[in-house]
Amino acid sequence: MKVGDRVEVKEEAIGKSCRKFDGGKGTIMGVRQGTHCSVKLDSGSLYAYDMIELILLPSYVPITHEGKVYTQLKEITGEKVYEAQGDKKSECFRKGFSLFVSIFGWMCVVPITEKRIEGWSNTYTQWLPWLKQHGFIRIEKVEPELKACPFCGGKPKTWWDISEPHEEGYNIECCYIHVCKIFKDEATEAWNSRD
Ligand SMILES: [Zn+2]
Repeated sequence: MKVGDRVEVKEEAIGKSCRKFDGGKGTIMGVRQGTHCSVKLDSGSLYAYDMIELILLPSYVPITHEGKVYTQLKEITGEKVYEAQGDKKSECFRKGFSLFVSIFGWMCVVPITEKRIEGWSNTYTQWLPWLKQHGFIRIEKVEPELKACPFCGGKPKTWWDISEPHEEGYNIECCYIHVCKIFKDEATEAWNSRD
């Protein structure tokens, strides 16, 4: 077991001391002395467990959709998203939530899939950002891959320039062709689209 692994607390370990109501599932945040794990439970509390008290769960598989990578971080159910919103039920939450429970109900566990991400982006664009903001999913931009140099076929040299007198930004260079842009993805795009 390692940091980032999804785990479930074994039934017999749940009742240990005052942890009765925090049993369930969580993510390993740290490992000490080989067997001591600090686990952030999905309820939000952080507790220490021994590895023998934990069951390793399959990790969520990241999903790529339209240039973004979506990774599920914890279980999504109607009940859990309702709890996550707390007392301040925003307009943004209400709309997404009512659509969500009308389809999946209250207790059904809903893993993210490419089809769902597509559906959610089409029906209500605020729903995925809401899930991200409340720690259910992570959304990352896919880094465009840098193409090989069209002249020598080699891997271009890349570096950040942050100091004077150079132009500030991300640099890509090979065979006397030099691209420099403020942002890395912008520079990569410029390099890749050049013939
Ligand atoms: Zn080259």
